[in-house]
Amino acid sequence: MLDIYTTNMLKDLKVASLCVRAGYEPKNGEPVELPIIQSTTFKYDNSEEMAMLFDLKKEGYFYTRLQNPTNDAVAEKIAELEGGVGAVLTSSGQAANFFAVINILGAGDHIVSSNEIYGGTFNLFGVTLKKFGIDCTFVDPKASEEELQAAFRPNTKAMFGEMISNPGVSVLDIEKFVRVAHRNGVPLIVDNTFATPVNCRPFEWGADIVTHSTTKYMDGLACQVGGAVVDSGNFDWESHASKFPGLTTPDMSYHGLTYTKSFGKKAYLTKMVAQIMRDLGSIPAPMNSFILNLGLQTLAVRMKQHCANAMAVAKFLSADPHVAWVRYPGLPDDPDHALAQKYLPNGSCGVIAFGLKGNRDTAIKFMDSLRMINIATHVADARSCVLHPASHTHRQLSDEQLREAGIAPDLIRLSVGIEDVSDIIKDIEQGLQEI
Ligand SMILES: *Cc1c(COP(=O)(O)O)cnc(C)c1O
Repeated sequence: MLDIYTTNMLKDLKVASLCVRAGYEPKNGEPVELPIIQSTTFKYDNSEEMAMLFDLKKEGYFYTRLQNPTNDAVAEKIAELEGGVGAVLTSSGQAANFFAVINILGAGDHIVSSNEIYGGTFNLFGVTLKKFGIDCTFVDPKASEEELQAAFRPNTKAMFGEMISNPGVSVLDIEKFVRVAHRNGVPLIVDNTFATPVNCRPFEWGADIVTHSTTKYMDGLACQVGGAVVDSGNFDWESHASKFPGLTTPDMSYHGLTYTKSFGKKAYLTKMVAQIMRDLGSIPAPMNSFILNLGLQTLAVRMKQHCANAMAVAKFLSADPHVAWVRYPGLPDDPDHALAQKYLPNGSCGVIAFGLKGNRDTAIKFMDSLRMINIATHVADARSCVLHPASHTHRQLSDEQLREAGIAPDLIRLSVGIEDVSDIIKDIEQGLQEI
């Protein structure tokens, strides 16, 4: 069997090199591109060896729902990109955020979350987790530390925010969130989908767990839906043992082993695979991980182009008389520009939020007039695309819920791709002439 774990040789590489190289290193005579191990299961010569795998006493593959060499190589690449101790790939970004939370929260627990987050996550936390008995308090991420503190309860087990929010493109003051989370003895989970580890590595600012929708920039070509959960290995579960019994007391569904005792810094991720993935099973197909890895190899160069193009488009929009407002962290007069300079010094992402003078129909007229830029329920890929959350992704939310989720009813989300920027601006310009 191919041993496709990375060797330590590659650990010191810069992010752009890790994008190309990490996770899989062929040995003599082996394929240069990551092989797709499209097999559900793996055979062993004797039953004793298989038994040791089930006891987690030996590392190896036995069933793809738990581990697969192609998936693991890509997980390892993402872990190295983020500077974590490991990662678990999931079949979607939704599954990643769900798993990140459900791994340490259960009925009777509570989470504090920024309200400026992706609509799917807003529903997951606000509606679906409630059915599991998990309560969520949404907070304004711009609130003071005292106001954030007021949202915490004795049963709070995690805090959550998006590094750059979708769709509002506001930048998380990650250090403020870290301080409040840690003061309360809980980990900070950061969804780093929009920034990607090319532009920000939340662990370097003290975040404990990072999640991704790999569907977005990491894939970059809109070919697969996927997610990832990465652990920094830094949160001290044992110091807050009574809050996290799932990690610090024996798991009777897994031979009575205690994850923190048996797996140290990998306790959180081992539990996620051995228990949550075993029982809920949202793995990516190895084929999808292979496709994701094709995207990851060019992530660093693509992010650079996305950011350069978006900066030019944001400046163009700011100067256009049809445009009421523009949010892009790279703009010097953006309310989050200072946060972006601190946390995202090399660029933020390719997504811009803006509003047009007029009403809801003005936004629709503009979008329908675009020739090259697609109207798509997608964001963060090579093709420029546009979406009006109030009429598309968030149409189930009332105006009040929209505001609660930090989304203006006139907000247009423009995901700037990597086409020639003059073509992108030309298309926007002619679209604005039509309104
Ligand atoms: C898209 C997205 C998700 C959900 O990911 P899927 O892969 O679509 O399930 C979660 N968080 C953010 C920030 C996203 O943009």
